[in-house]
Amino acid sequence: MEKVLLKNIENPNSHRIDEYINTGGYRSLQKALKEMKPEEILEEVKKSGLRGRGGAGFPTGMKWDFASRDPKFPKYLLCNADEGEPGTFKDRPILERNPHLLIEGMVISAYTLKTERGYIYLRGEYPYAKVVLEEAIKEAYEKGYLGDNILGTGFSFHLSVHQGAGAYICGEETALIESIEGKRGQPRIKPPFPVNVGAWGMPTVVNNVETLANIPYIVEISGEEYSKIGSPDCPGPKLYSVSCCVKQPGVYELPMGTSLKEIIYTHAGGIRDDRPLKAVIPGGISTPVLTPDKIECPMDFINLPKYGSMLGSGAVMVFDDRVCMVKVCWRAVKFFEHESCGKCTPCREGTGWMKNILERIESGRGRKGDIELLQDVSKSIQGKTFCPLGDGAAGVVLSFVRNFTEEFEYHIENHKCMVAES
Ligand code: SF4
Repeated sequence: MEKVLLKNIENPNSHRIDEYINTGGYRSLQKALKEMKPEEILEEVKKSGLRGRGGAGFPTGMKWDFASRDPKFPKYLLCNADEGEPGTFKDRPILERNPHLLIEGMVISAYTLKTERGYIYLRGEYPYAKVVLEEAIKEAYEKGYLGDNILGTGFSFHLSVHQGAGAYICGEETALIESIEGKRGQPRIKPPFPVNVGAWGMPTVVNNVETLANIPYIVEISGEEYSKIGSPDCPGPKLYSVSCCVKQPGVYELPMGTSLKEIIYTHAGGIRDDRPLKAVIPGGISTPVLTPDKIECPMDFINLPKYGSMLGSGAVMVFDDRVCMVKVCWRAVKFFEHESCGKCTPCREGTGWMKNILERIESGRGRKGDIELLQDVSKSIQGKTFCPLGDGAAGVVLSFVRNFTEEFEYHIENHKCMVAES
């Protein structure tokens, strides 16, 4: 498959506008603004079958349709570049090496949604991306791809970067909106959904970086052609970030639905030191862990749930037989406890409880009944929180305990790790 999202990024000047234009960049924008009506682009995006790449996998065309139908004005387009999920670094090459693809995608999206104002909400820990994005935005203004009366069409769109301050929860769309409004970054109750009541109470579309970066390609080849790439139910190119115990960690652009096995063994070079595979977290730390018998699974939004997990952000974390699963689970929950915004009690208190129980099991101080207690706390969180952070933390714990019960029991009974012994 030809590279769409990571096209030309090996070129040291790939982030510069001249290089982007020389390799076909901003042609889709010309086509969209000069030859197509907003309704026609919306139809193409619907036909494409594009689903949001941030984790939820919601159909992009449907989200845009809801916002387009709302008569209120102004509307806002927000790009979620708050890439904070552990194991996830797929958007980073777009932000740092291909920023004009994102800008082009945002201008076309804004034209379709009839919005004149957009923000890129950038992860606080990506300072270099901020420099690159702001330079790219400046270049796009100078060439007339941003600003008033873009390409003489009468359409205006203004874009700027808003940098977060390092809170993971601001990657949740309503917490992101709160933060951009200058408030404490905490999720809002839904409904109402941001497409109707978003930033400053107005209709707002929040899309992930990778989602918006797909738009120029859909305009270029048509929604119908795009829908033929990869999985029929959730098509398109997909970025997978692969890390931990593989020979070649990195970001791989592959058709949606490529199997986990192909990603690990063909593209990421297989397991480090050729050790046996022990476990895989397929979609970032919030997604349930899988055992090696599941690696034939196609990596897409539809198939992963059938195997007991979720695609999430497509961040594949691979563990070999030298890794202690109790320790991985404890580290994951420690992260959730630290990042819980504290708004709802089950998440605020529950993640702390789970961390404490896991900490004592991991350090050899586990007690009889701790596994049942962990399961009980997890189930007391699930389905009782404002946003997916609590559910994610509980689901991860339950999946580790379910798939690696023996390791948890060994820790408790022998007060030490079975992996350290082997
Ligand atoms: Fe905050 Fe956790 Fe509740 Fe989400 S689930 S709103 S992170 S306390």
